Amino acid sequence: MEYENSAAFAQRLDEQDTLSNFRNEFLIPQHQRKDIIYLCGNSLGLQPKAAQQEIATQLGAWQNLAVEGWFQGDAPWHEYHKQLLPPLANIVGALPHEVTVMNSLTINLHLLMVSFYQPKGKRYKILMEGGAFPSDQYAVESQVKFHGFDPKDAVIEVFPREGESTLQTADILSAIEEHSDELALVLFSGINYYTGQFFGLKAIAGAAHEAGAYVGFDLAHAAGNVPLALHDWQADFACWCSYKYMNSGPGGISGIFVHEKHHQNKELNRFAGWWGYRNDTRFKMIPGFDPEPGAEGWQVSTSPILLMAAHNAALQLFEQAGSIPALRRKSELLTGYLEYLIEQINQQQGEQLFKIITPKNKQERGCQLSVICKHNGKAMFDHLVSKGVIGDWREPDVIRLSPVPLYNTFTDVYEAAHYMAEAATQISKA
Ligand SMILES: *Cc1c(COP(=O)(O)O)cnc(C)c1O
Repeated sequence: MEYENSAAFAQRLDEQDTLSNFRNEFLIPQHQRKDIIYLCGNSLGLQPKAAQQEIATQLGAWQNLAVEGWFQGDAPWHEYHKQLLPPLANIVGALPHEVTVMNSLTINLHLLMVSFYQPKGKRYKILMEGGAFPSDQYAVESQVKFHGFDPKDAVIEVFPREGESTLQTADILSAIEEHSDELALVLFSGINYYTGQFFGLKAIAGAAHEAGAYVGFDLAHAAGNVPLALHDWQADFACWCSYKYMNSGPGGISGIFVHEKHHQNKELNRFAGWWGYRNDTRFKMIPGFDPEPGAEGWQVSTSPILLMAAHNAALQLFEQAGSIPALRRKSELLTGYLEYLIEQINQQQGEQLFKIITPKNKQERGCQLSVICKHNGKAMFDHLVSKGVIGDWREPDVIRLSPVPLYNTFTDVYEAAHYMAEAATQISKA
């Protein structure tokens, strides 16, 4: 698309946008009596209006049915989660019985590493991206220590080449090959939280298996954002949170994927709890753990129904929108527009004040652009906030901006760039 740097052009794109009605399904915070320009779905997605109603419905069931709510009412709680699985499976490219919802993300990463990090002999190392989200680094470090290894030796991180900000797929694949006889697990994020790079997950999964290792993905920044095909890619496991692009509320419930090829494997370790026990006999309370077949067999604890209610409301919007394929088309246009407008600012200023480190190739990114500010970054970011533009700031000099196709408009992007241009003139050169 040939973009234009004008409010009228942005408005025209909004008028042509077949998903524009979905913005009305969200509650948008106000700044000086106007909708804020919210470009922070990478951190916390906005609240769907239906979340309150669905939570209220479950509070009502608690009020009216109390303990009987587990087995009575319109959607008995003991199987409430089941309605979440088909929409989630669509989002991550899985079969419904390969996914479930439980706990929160880092906990699930640990539980899945209990199953899929099984060091044996000289095959005890974990290969991951350098600069992974800190929680993942801590989880991996503590897992290898738990098995008696030294993280300095047992964790292999792959970094970008000198002078580059993002990884080349070829380098990831050759690192896997180079260490092939030592790897127990290859663990990658789907999208790196800092750079916004969307990794070649299919190729990574293929190389990991070729090397004889398991492969798992942390999809915190990818789920609800980019097309995924976990089943076809043969990923062994994956996990994600629901509060970023899935708009399911702060600390919202996490999701997991376990490929069906592992569902019958009794050799895999798991840390079990009663909520993973076979549904039909769970409440007989018999000794000896007998898992429910499928991802549900990894569940541990009683369903947090209020979190699931918020998630339910949010997932229904994805279904109504046509799930990821429909959202992705708009997402590419929106993020492309932001990229174009930022490059216009650099041209006008005659200097690369804003350097986008996220890959230019649409196949290698989702909504997010990570922008390095050449001068006075924090002051520029504060200027944006004062104008009601909410992105987020990452030390030392990066602003992350993520236009989200479910609720952002082309006009949001145009206005955000307008204030960036203002910051460039008033602050960067000050
Ligand atoms: C957001 C994020 C997390 C957060 O984990 P929680 O357990 O939900 O706090 C972990 N890993 C990655 C890659 C993330 O982006």
